[in-house]
Amino acid sequence: HKVLYDPHALFCDRCGARMERRFIPEEGNERDACPSCGYIRYFNPTPIVVAIIEHKGKVLLAKRAIDPQKGFWTLPGGFQELHETLAEGAARESWEEARAKISIQQLYIAYDIPFAGQATFAFIAHLESEDFSPGPESLDVRLFTEEEIPWDELSFRTVSIALRHFFADRKTGIFPVRSILLEQPENP
Ligand code: ZN
Repeated sequence: HKVLYDPHALFCDRCGARMERRFIPEEGNERDACPSCGYIRYFNPTPIVVAIIEHKGKVLLAKRAIDPQKGFWTLPGGFQELHETLAEGAARESWEEARAKISIQQLYIAYDIPFAGQATFAFIAHLESEDFSPGPESLDVRLFTEEEIPWDELSFRTVSIALRHFFADRKTGIFPVRSILLEQPENP
């Protein structure tokens, strides 16, 4: 896979000594390792959770107030926090970004994004209350019909892919869980 994200640890999280690259025979891999205390720093893909929030035939989008992609419309989402489930993360992000109370219906799309060291999980959810408003990371929050979706002003490829599948599947009422591999960066 092409690699955009290749993090390294300069100093040991445990004792503060300078890390060194070391080949770990048991893993067949090079890692950042501490020559002083033996600690090995692992870097793993980061899970991201997003919510496709449906209400009366419309989908809720938030306009981003922060970079990346400030000013573009997005599905509420963000990094999964420690000690929460994927679905809890999607609900939390929906509250933080759109002050939307939601009920998760199902997992819908799992995206592998190996070049970025990420995996994104999109859930279908229902809006529990028509009270919603921009959180601190959003400029605006609105419900859009399929025709109203600002396709040219969407934040990320994961968002446009999710919306296209969602509106296509809605015609049949069947929402199969998909696995989608993103192999290349959006703006190479
Ligand atoms: Zn150490």
